[in-house]
Amino acid sequence: MLDRSVTARDQTYSAAGLDVVETVRDLSSRQLAPIVRKIDGEGHYPEAVIRAFGRAGAFARHLPGETLGGPDLVTAIRAMAAAGEYCLSTSFCMWCQNALAWYIFASDNQGLKASLGRRVAAGEALGGTALSNPMKTFFGIEQIRLKGKRVDGGYAVRGALPYVSNLGSDHYFGAVFEAEDAPKRYVMAIVPCASEGVALSGNTKFVALDGTRTFSVQLRDAVIPDSCVLADPSDAFIKRIRAGFVLLQAGMGIGLVRGCIALMLGVKGPLGHVNKYLDVQPEHLTGKLATLEAEVERLAATPFESDQAYWRAVLETRLAVGEAALTAAQAAMLHCGARGYVASAAAQRRLRESYFVAIVTPAIKQLKKMLADMTH
Ligand SMILES: Cc1cc2nc3c(=O)[nH]c(=O)nc-3n(C[C@H](O)[C@H](O)[C@H](O)COP(=O)(O)OP(=O)(O)OC[C@H]3O[C@@H](n4cnc5c(N)ncnc54)[C@H](O)[C@@H]3O)c2cc1C
Repeated sequence: MLDRSVTARDQTYSAAGLDVVETVRDLSSRQLAPIVRKIDGEGHYPEAVIRAFGRAGAFARHLPGETLGGPDLVTAIRAMAAAGEYCLSTSFCMWCQNALAWYIFASDNQGLKASLGRRVAAGEALGGTALSNPMKTFFGIEQIRLKGKRVDGGYAVRGALPYVSNLGSDHYFGAVFEAEDAPKRYVMAIVPCASEGVALSGNTKFVALDGTRTFSVQLRDAVIPDSCVLADPSDAFIKRIRAGFVLLQAGMGIGLVRGCIALMLGVKGPLGHVNKYLDVQPEHLTGKLATLEAEVERLAATPFESDQAYWRAVLETRLAVGEAALTAAQAAMLHCGARGYVASAAAQRRLRESYFVAIVTPAIKQLKKMLADMTH
């Protein structure tokens, strides 16, 4: 199994990808690290850093049809992990941006790829994804919240979504609505936030991830033109993009775990003599992380694989990432002790952030349900 993972990684991982990750790593240490507390405490949206990542190519290499040798999800994941070592809000905004670009370039909508798609890939246009509700709908957890009526040249869409991140008045997001004309079906499209009938409101204060520009979105017969449709009907398209959607999230978790390991190592000098009695040690997490990264990258090498065993492995790996994030953040807190408990400490921030890896769709509970359903 190890041999196969190395081969798959080597195929997709090139010098160009390495450059992207190194640039993101450098930008993160110089431009992101100094503002992490402002992001966390004041809900500052790290727009300048996200755009700089875009200019560095962080949102471009995983796109179908754009990279020699196939979509390079490994670079996207490593870049998100590099930022996530410092800040989960930023890493999540990168995932939102990556997911938006992923949908556009996986579609057959050539016009959208050539226009908005290019700008999203370069970080010039920003946005996200409203797929939590449909992802829960498709797996029997909740009802679809957006409905669309066929009108001349497009669909009039109405409904509300509680949380969509990485948004702004000139941003875009991918969404799924149920078409009400026959036959009943789901349609996937890009919604420009600037469209008439689209309203963003954002009063919710979260325990973490407040710097992600997360809004409630209301659509009141917003007309989504056919030129913004990604797939109609969308069932096959969603099956095609879902593994990439889930695997890309691993970058957030990997970065967070690495950040937690660094915190633990940082207190080894003053506190190692007593921390050594704790059950979870940085070496345990480092070993676990290496195995997890190898598996993520093996799976990320073939994001369009369609067999059920592959999908199951993706879900199991995503579950392991969520659980590793919780374990690592808790361990970092225990290792840092009172130093980690002060309001400005990184350890308590990482602990709050870690729960997001566990609850963002697909949440740990959804993953467990999906895996349980597969065995019946
Ligand atoms: C900071 C943040 C950013 C997010 N960004 C996105 C995004 O970009 N795109 C996206 O699609 N989803 C986003 N989500 C939603 C996220 O992916 C999950 O869907 C969400 O965390 C709940 O998932 P769950 O499976 O635990 O569902 P549960 O929390 O168990 O149940 C979800 C249900 O509870 C309802 N609900 C939500 N909030 C409340 C509340 N305050 N009071 C009562 N009921 C509530 C929802 O409407 C939904 O029907 C975001 C969530 C958070 C916290």
